[in-house]
Amino acid sequence: MKDTVIYLVVPCYNEEKMLPITQKALSELLNDMISREKISQKSRMVFVDDGSKDNTWQIIERYCSSDPLVKGVKLSRNKGHQNALLAGLMTVKAECDAAISLDADLQDDIGAIEKMITEYENGCEIVFGVRSKREKDTLFKRATARGFYKVMRFMGADIIYDHADYRLMSRRALDELENFKEVNLFLRGIVPMIGFKTGTVLYERGVRTQGESKYPLKKMIAFAVDGITSLSIKPIRFITFLGLFILFASTAILIYSLVRHFMGHTVWGWTSLMVSIWAIGGLQLFAIGVVGEYVGKIYLETKARPKFIVDKYIGN
Ligand code: UDP
Ligand code: MG
Repeated sequence: MKDTVIYLVVPCYNEEKMLPITQKALSELLNDMISREKISQKSRMVFVDDGSKDNTWQIIERYCSSDPLVKGVKLSRNKGHQNALLAGLMTVKAECDAAISLDADLQDDIGAIEKMITEYENGCEIVFGVRSKREKDTLFKRATARGFYKVMRFMGADIIYDHADYRLMSRRALDELENFKEVNLFLRGIVPMIGFKTGTVLYERGVRTQGESKYPLKKMIAFAVDGITSLSIKPIRFITFLGLFILFASTAILIYSLVRHFMGHTVWGWTSLMVSIWAIGGLQLFAIGVVGEYVGKIYLETKARPKFIVDKYIGN
């Protein structure tokens, strides 16, 4: 299958420390596969600079002139990992048969790339990279990541366990992805919705050797809330059920209060009154907040703003 054009799409945000290692490793990998006629010599790696504040773009430009396999996309400003990835995929999809997305830090074993291409040759339109082990992650990262997948599933977001954004997508799948017009794009949830024949490749997750993680806890929580609210309306349904439950409970309390009244104990119960006012007040605010979260999403969707703006696209 030496005609298969593969593009590796790598979103980069402040990755000046990591890029030299990444470019070298990917260049070796591509050259090796090209020489063995596994893939076409038109295959490339594309670095997407997501509005970095350091020298990431200058480094990408340098590689573009020194290594024919490198291309670069510069976004007009920082738009976050998901949008940077989408920008890369959409920019290259007309030029390749399949694109593989991976992080710049090479935490996802690049040895899985060839296996993904083999799955693609066997007819898969989408191949998911799934982490078999994450021993090398810190205990904290592992626990929060596990919690993330559990909560997501419980909340009705149907995502693949331990699959991040390391995947192969054929041009056909990418064309379909373009039809998902939502602004709040949560790729992990959207891609499985595309369907077609899919495959999985297992790999071990390594450590980030240079630079630090761009996903601190705060961003991870925001990412999870975004994922849940853009994929599922289960939280709103929970609120409805909770409201119903409280309504039933209140009838019981009504009967209880009437009984107390006729028994002549009317002033009794200040504490329980105080507690219920605070509890119900808190619950209501929380419920309004959850509904507001969705209203906010609708607000953003109706504006239909562009998900990313490309500043430059370089490479032969
Ligand atoms: N990234 C990005 N824009 C951002 C944050 C991160 O393009 O605003 C990129 C980053 O350069 C890396 C990938 O997304 O290639 C994953 O980030 P990171 O490795 O920091 O996340 P972690 O592996 O810790 O979850
Ligand atoms: Mg990482």
